[in-house]
Amino acid sequence: MTEKRRLKLEIIESEARYKDLFENAGEPMYILDTSGCFQAINKAGLRILGAEKEEVIGSHISRWLTPESLKLSQEVLEKQISGERCEQPVVIEVINKNGEHLWGEIATRVISDGDRITGIHGIARDITEKLRLEQELLESEAKYRDLFENADDPMFTLDTNGNFLALNNAGLRLLGCTRNELIGSHLSKWITLESNVNAMNAIKKRLMGESIESPTILEMVSSNGEHRWIEVRSSILKEGNAIKGLHGNARDVTEKRRLELQLKDYHEKLQRSYEELIEADRIKTEFVSNITHELLTPMTSIKGFTELLYDETTGKISNEQKKSLEIILRNSERLIRLIKDLLDVASLDKNKLSMKFECVQMTEIISKTIQDLQPHAMSKGIRIINKVAPLPAILGDDGRLTQVITNLLFNAIKFTPEKGTITVIVSENTNNISISVTDTGIGIPENELPRIFDRFYQIDGSDSRKYGGTGLGLSICKSIIEQHYGSIKAQSDCNGSTFHIMLPKPANNTKGV
Ligand code: ADP
Repeated sequence: MTEKRRLKLEIIESEARYKDLFENAGEPMYILDTSGCFQAINKAGLRILGAEKEEVIGSHISRWLTPESLKLSQEVLEKQISGERCEQPVVIEVINKNGEHLWGEIATRVISDGDRITGIHGIARDITEKLRLEQELLESEAKYRDLFENADDPMFTLDTNGNFLALNNAGLRLLGCTRNELIGSHLSKWITLESNVNAMNAIKKRLMGESIESPTILEMVSSNGEHRWIEVRSSILKEGNAIKGLHGNARDVTEKRRLELQLKDYHEKLQRSYEELIEADRIKTEFVSNITHELLTPMTSIKGFTELLYDETTGKISNEQKKSLEIILRNSERLIRLIKDLLDVASLDKNKLSMKFECVQMTEIISKTIQDLQPHAMSKGIRIINKVAPLPAILGDDGRLTQVITNLLFNAIKFTPEKGTITVIVSENTNNISISVTDTGIGIPENELPRIFDRFYQIDGSDSRKYGGTGLGLSICKSIIEQHYGSIKAQSDCNGSTFHIMLPKPANNTKGV
C-alpha cells in the first residue's frame, strides 16, 4: 500500500469515527451555514425537534425558534461571523414540529475553511425540565410568601436566640414598626419583662424538643407604648436537619382578655352579692322566726283567756259582751293562723316542716275540719257537702293534714260568693287515696294555675286582694303534701275551682287500723 493510499484510508476511518461520535452524541449537535440554514443535525437534535432529518436539513432556524430566540441567535451568528466575542452559552426557546416549546442552552463556534467562514457548529443542552422546576419553585415561593405576608394574623420567624428573622405585614402593623426596625431585633424589645421570661422558657423548651403548653400568652408593647395581649403558637424551623429557629403565628387576644377580666370581676361581685344576700336572707328568716314566736305566746294567752270569759268560767256575761268576745276570738284565731303560717315559712326556709308520722284516718280529719268550719261557711250561706266514705288509714301527720284541709276549705269559703256550694269527695284506688275540694266560687284563670302554689303569690287585681290573705297557704299545703310523698294540683273553670290531693297508701294495707 502506497503512503498516499494509507493516508487516504486513515482520513476515511477518522471521518467515519467523528461522524459516528457526532450522530450518536447524547447532546443535540448541529451545523448551520452562514445564512442560518441547517447543514447537519444529530439524532439527539432531531429528537428535540421531533422531525426527520430530511425535514430539518436545509430548513432555516427561523422555522424552529420563537421570534425572540431567532433574534438572539441571529445576533450571536452575526457577531461570530464578524469575529466579535459574544457571551456563551445562550438560552433559546425552540418550537418543535408538534408545536411544543422547549428550552435549550446553546454554545456555538464558527467553522472555517482557511480564512473563509463556512458555517457555525452548535451544541445544545435541553434545559426544559430544569426551567420548569425553577419556575414551579419560584411560583411556590411567591405563593407562600404571599400567604405569609398577607395573612390576617401576625406570623414570624425567630433565630435560636430569639432575634426576628421575619415578620409579616399583620405583625408589623401590630407592633407599629417598619421591617427594617424589626429584623434582627430581639423579641424582648417588644414584650414586657415578665412575658420575656415566659417566651424564653417556651423557646428553650421548643428547641430542646420538649412539649410546651400551647399557646403562650404574651403581653406585647408596640412602638407607641400601647400594651396588647397575644396568643402565640410556634414550631421548630429546620433547614435539612439543622434547627434554624422557630416559626409561628400570633393572635391578638386583647379584647378577649379584657372581656375575661371583666367577666371575672363581675363573677366576683356577683359572688359577693350572692353571699350578702344569703346572709341577709338568713338574718330575715331568723328575725321572722323570732318575732313570730314572740307574737304567738301573747296571742295564745289572749285567745285562752277570751275563751274562759266566753265560756263564762269566770262569771256570767251579757249577750252583748258575748258578741264582742266572739269577734275577739275570731280575730285572734285569724292572727294565730297567720303567725303559724309565717313560722312554717321560716322553718321551710331553713329546712322542711316538722312532721310526726302516725296512722291517720283522712275521713276523720276531713269530717272534723268541715265541722269546725261549718259556722264560718254558714255565715255566708254556703253549703258544704261531705261525700266522705270510710277509707284505709294512711301514714301522716294529723295536725299538718288538718292544716291542709282547713286551708283548702277556708279558701273555698273565701272565694265563693254567698249561697254557694263546696263539695268534698274522697275515694281510693290501689295505691292512693284521693281528696277533692270543689267550690262554686270565682274560679282561677288558667294562666294563673301554675303559680298559685308559689310562696306569697296571689292572683293580681283588686278582686283577689279584697279577700285579704298572705299568699302563703297553698305553698305550705304543697310542702306538707310533698313531705307525705303525695301531690296537689288545681283545676278551674267558669263554675269554680277544684283542688285535688293524692296521698299514697302504706305498702301493707292498714285498712281498719
Ligand atoms: P291566700 O289565700 O292567703 O291569698 P293561698 O296561698 O292560700 O293564699 O292562695 C293563693 C291564691 O290562690 C289566692 O290569693 C287566690 O288568688 C287563689 N286561690 C286559692 N284558692 C282559691 C279558690 N278556691 N278559688 C279561687 N282562687 C283561689
